[in-house]
Amino acid sequence: MTSEQTYFLTLALLNIVLALAGTRIKDLEGKPNSVYFLTGAFFAFSISWFIYVFEPSTFMKIVSAIFAVLFIWGIIVFSSKRCEKKVPWIFIISIFTIHSIIQSYFTFLDNFNAVLYLNGVLIPFAFLIASYLFFKVKKEKNSSDTVLVYIFLIMSIFLIARSIILKISPEIFSITSVSSQFLWPVFCVAIGVFSFLSFTEEAQDKLKIESITDSLTGVLNRRGFFSALKIKTKKAWNANEQLSLVLFDLDHFKNVNDAHGHKAGDIILKKCAQQIKEKLRESDLFGRFGGEEFAILLFGVDIKKAKNIVERMRISLEEMSSIYKEKNIKITASFGIVEMKESDNFDDVFIKADNALYAAKKSGRNKIKLGL
Ligand code: GH3
Ligand code: MG
Ligand code: MG
Repeated sequence: MTSEQTYFLTLALLNIVLALAGTRIKDLEGKPNSVYFLTGAFFAFSISWFIYVFEPSTFMKIVSAIFAVLFIWGIIVFSSKRCEKKVPWIFIISIFTIHSIIQSYFTFLDNFNAVLYLNGVLIPFAFLIASYLFFKVKKEKNSSDTVLVYIFLIMSIFLIARSIILKISPEIFSITSVSSQFLWPVFCVAIGVFSFLSFTEEAQDKLKIESITDSLTGVLNRRGFFSALKIKTKKAWNANEQLSLVLFDLDHFKNVNDAHGHKAGDIILKKCAQQIKEKLRESDLFGRFGGEEFAILLFGVDIKKAKNIVERMRISLEEMSSIYKEKNIKITASFGIVEMKESDNFDDVFIKADNALYAAKKSGRNKIKLGL
């Protein structure tokens, strides 16, 4: 086997490995199945290189060229789907057909330079589209997506530069043909690895959010509340901000479930959380502690101001209309408020707030009590 054949075989195997790795990746639930197109693209590229291991006839060279073009435009379909942009199928099929015909024609003529010129225009064009999609169109970009933007961009610049060098100074082209041999293996590995990492990062981010979010109300859960509390209280105290902690629990909620069913209870619970959230600033912390008990940490607010804010919450819950199956279910809540100082122990502050909440319940519910 010549060193050229070894090179083609290595590239073919490399692309098979990437295609197989792609079969282990899944798009998140509710997202288009973009990864199939990436896997397909690597598979097509692998066939394209594999054909060259056997000193192909002109016909087989044309087949190889078509598979290579399929790889390029397969990557673009993958990028569109991955960035949740509707795939412009008519455009993709048209440009794939044109690209295939011209590339096949030059391959038939055995005009290697013309193939390089063609790919100095069409491949950078495709990769600039991919770069743009990952840069501008993809929502919730992660760092692997940003790396993909640069890989597509650098590859485009490289291919354009190669064509220009070929045109203006063909004598140094032998250097660029050597560098071309590095180009495709490095590009395939880079695109494969960072695309797969992008899926992994996305899944990790989703899990991280799910682990700190209450699935019913969408507010922080107990774990999320405490981990944010530790970070944000430190910052607030460093800035000399006052903090107030509020605990509240819906009144006689068991009766709501008993009278209207658990489903109605869930809907109302969600609505109460929404109602309270509307009264808070973006910087405040709001979490569900379990059942129908919630906690709020108000920033830059002393206990007096906190009482006014909480009074507005109490009234808004009382006045909230919860129509379920044509019945208006009335809800109230009892609140306990304490001030939180840097010297305080977290456990003690929560016990104090809980005692204030208990006092509010004892004094007839739908009340606010301060823990002093
Ligand atoms: P109190 O005024 O003393 O708080 O009376 P309560 O009935 O609200 O008593 P408590 O807070 O101890 O009871 C919590 C009840 O809230 C028990 C359960 O029926 C209901 N509950 C807790 N979590 C959920 C939930 O996720 N969904 C629904 N629908 N109900 C819940
Ligand atoms: Mg209750
Ligand atoms: Mg409760």
